[in-house]
Parts: sequence; C-alpha cells; structure tokens
Amino acid sequence: MTNPDEFRGRVREWLAASAPRRIAGDLPPAPSVKDLSDEEFETARARQRALADAGLAGLTWPAVYGGAGLDDGAQRIFDEEAAEYDLGLEAFNVAIDLVGPTLLTHGTEEQKRRYLPAILRGEELWCQLFSEPGAGSDLASLSTRAEHDSDGWRISGQKVWTSGGQHADLAILVARSDFSVPKHRGLSYFVLDMHSPGVSVRPLRQMTGDAHFAEVFLDDVPIPPENIVARPGDGWSVVRTTLGNERVAIGGDPGIEARQLITLARSQRERTGRVQADAALLDEVATLEVRNRALAALARRSARAVASGAGPGPEASIFKLEFADLQRIGNDLALRILGADGLSAGADAPAGGAWQTSLLTAPYLRIAGGTDEIQRNIIAERILGLPADRNDGRDVPFSDLARG
Ligand SMILES: Cc1cc2nc3c(=O)[nH]c(=O)nc-3n(C[C@H](O)[C@H](O)[C@H](O)COP(=O)(O)OP(=O)(O)OC[C@H]3O[C@@H](n4cnc5c(N)ncnc54)[C@H](O)[C@@H]3O)c2cc1C
Repeated sequence: MTNPDEFRGRVREWLAASAPRRIAGDLPPAPSVKDLSDEEFETARARQRALADAGLAGLTWPAVYGGAGLDDGAQRIFDEEAAEYDLGLEAFNVAIDLVGPTLLTHGTEEQKRRYLPAILRGEELWCQLFSEPGAGSDLASLSTRAEHDSDGWRISGQKVWTSGGQHADLAILVARSDFSVPKHRGLSYFVLDMHSPGVSVRPLRQMTGDAHFAEVFLDDVPIPPENIVARPGDGWSVVRTTLGNERVAIGGDPGIEARQLITLARSQRERTGRVQADAALLDEVATLEVRNRALAALARRSARAVASGAGPGPEASIFKLEFADLQRIGNDLALRILGADGLSAGADAPAGGAWQTSLLTAPYLRIAGGTDEIQRNIIAERILGLPADRNDGRDVPFSDLARG
C-alpha cells in the first residue's frame, strides 16, 4: 500500500474538512437504524460522493470498479480515524457492506461495472429483500416465487424488516425459482429495481419511534434476465456471501468504548455533584474495553480474509455475537452511570437523550443479520464441529414441506 503515515495524514485532512467531529466524548455511536429526513439523505449522498472524489471510498475494491485498490491496512487506518467523526453514511451500509462484496464475488463483469462505481459515488440506495413473514432465521424456507418467462423473471411474494426499503432505488432479492427441489437448492438471487411496477413499500415503526425498516409487497414484478446473480438455483451460495459480510459489517460498527463511559461519568459528576461510578462499575468498564480490543483484533483478521478474497468464514458469527453483547453491556453501564437521570428521555436528558436511544436501539444487533441463537448454532456446527440439526427438512423437496 501507499506509505501508511502519508495515507493517515490524507484521511485526517479529509475528515477534518468534511465531517463533523463527535460533539462530545460522552456520546454513544450514532444509531445505524434510524430513519433519515430528505435533507439528511442529501447530506449523506453529498458526503459519499465527496469521499469517492477524494479517492477514499471502496478502499479495498479494485480501481476498475471505482475503488482505491488498497489493502485492508488502509481500511483499518481509515476506520481508526473515522471513529472520531460522525460521517453519517449509514444509508449506504447495505450497498457498501453487503451488495459490493457480494457482486465482487458472484457478479458478472457487466453487473460489477454497472453497479459498483455508482455505489461508491452514493448515486443509488440499496435495500436487502431477504426476510419474509414466514422465513427469518430459517431463511432458506422463504416462499417468494420467481417465475421464468420469455422476458426474464416475474416475482411475487412479501418481504419484511427491509431496512431503508422506502428510500431504496435497488435491492438484492432472493426468491424461490424451483419448488420441486430441497429448500437450499431452489433459490435464485437477483438485483431488483425498486421503482419497477408491482413493488409497494409500507414503512414499519420500531420502538425508538423511527421507521427504519419496511414491509415490501411484490406483485408480478418483472426482472430482466441480466439481473440474476449467479445461475438459477445457485442463490443460496450467494446469500451466504451476503450474510457473512453483513455479520462482519454489523460487528464492525463503531462500538461503545470505555473512554465514552468515563467521560460520561465525569460530566455526570460535574452536573450533579455525585459520583455515579464506583470501583466495581469501573472494573466492568475495564472488562468491556478488554473485550472491545480482543474483538478489534478478530475484526482485523476477518477484514484481511475478506480483502484477500477468502470471504468471511464462520468466525463472522463470533464477531457479531460478541459485538451485540458488548453493546448491551455498554448501554447498561451508561444507564447505571446516569443513575436516576437515565430514566428521562428526549432532548432534556443528559447527552440529549442519546444514551436512551442507544439503549432502545441495541437489541436490534441481537436479531438483524441472524439472531444470537443462530450465530451460536453456526459456531457450534462449523467451528466446534458439534452435530448439526438435520431435522430441518433440508433433504425434502420444498413443495413437500409443511409450511405456515
Ligand atoms: C433492525 C433490523 C433490521 C433488519 N433489516 C433487514 C433487512 O434489511 N433485510 C432483511 O431481509 N431482513 C432484515 N431484518 C430481519 C432479520 O434478518 C430477521 O429478523 C432475523 O433473521 C430473525 O428472523 P425473524 O425475525 O423471522 O425471527 P424468527 O426466525 O421467527 O426467530 C424467532 C426466535 O426463534 C429463535 N430461533 C429460530 N430458529 C432457531 C433455531 N434453529 N435454533 C434456536 N433458536 C431459533 C430466534 O433466535 C428468535 O429468538 C432486520 C431485522 C432488524 C431487527
């Protein structure tokens, strides 16, 4: 890669000129599951475009698709520096963390050239149409139908929990193209234009009050033949690539750090005159930081595997499981530091209520991208070598399975 010090300097300079620094050291990381106003979207688009213009988007993606063609060391430097700033680019997470690596691995040359540069320039927003009302953890049991016809494909079914579905231009979609084979073998993976006829989107409100996700209805939606990713029936291997990258990405979100909690304890003491953090609590803060650093080391190993084309392995599950647990602990510690003030929410609460929002947001980490239980199953089967649960109908033609 280029000289690391020189690269760090370039990143620092760009960040200082282009993004707001975190307002105070006692704020939690901004939640990635909030809905954005039109104005916030425009700011995010402009910043993503500026990032691409500065040669800092898609650091490990090949230059031919608009990336910087650098190694994961450059990405690490960028992430370290960017942790000090509120970049506000969460709207592009699906595109950059999920779609990009998936198309780089499985896409055709035309698909890579058509979609990847536009992703890095923030020109198109993407969503992920995987989960259905009857298929979440057992995603391979989904029943959205893909029928082949002379013009390509026609899709009918319902998706749910679609993050950013109401704003998306494009989607990655998995649907069943063959009901006569076992469930993992009859799936196909597509790129869908969300502005196609037959797509309707209804936002869903979550417990923070935001409508970050939506349900999406697909009524005989046409998809041109060139929009299939990999061959018909090979969708499951593509899905696995997407989900592995999603787990690495969720685990790589900025987490709650000891220094934020210590600053929060200090500012709380200045505000109230009381010390809310006793020795036992500080001990827990230190343990959190030790686990944070161990996770960061694992993150670097995963990032190297992804950048070298090996793809995220089952360790992505350890990663996501641990990150979700650390956020739960971090939020719990923050609320204990706030004491009775932790009960108030909204702008009048300490740190503008950011910790309360963070607390209400954190449970999503234990569900999205595969629940804690599913990560444990993967770790048990694929890392520890324990016997798999083979009673899940994986050898039976999908049309013969009892569903509903
Ligand atoms: C904030 C948020 C954003 C999301 N965004 C998207 C998105 O953009 N696109 C998308 O497609 N999906 C999205 N999801 C959906 C997410 O992937 C699913 O919620 C998740 O996979 C779980 O599926 P489910 O909700 O159907 O729960 P279920 O699968 O019904 O699980 C219910 C409970 O049963 C447990 N369980 C199920 N099977 C097993 C098993 N074999 N062993 C042990 N326990 C089991 C689960 O752990 C869980 O506790 C999002 C979810 C959230 C919370």
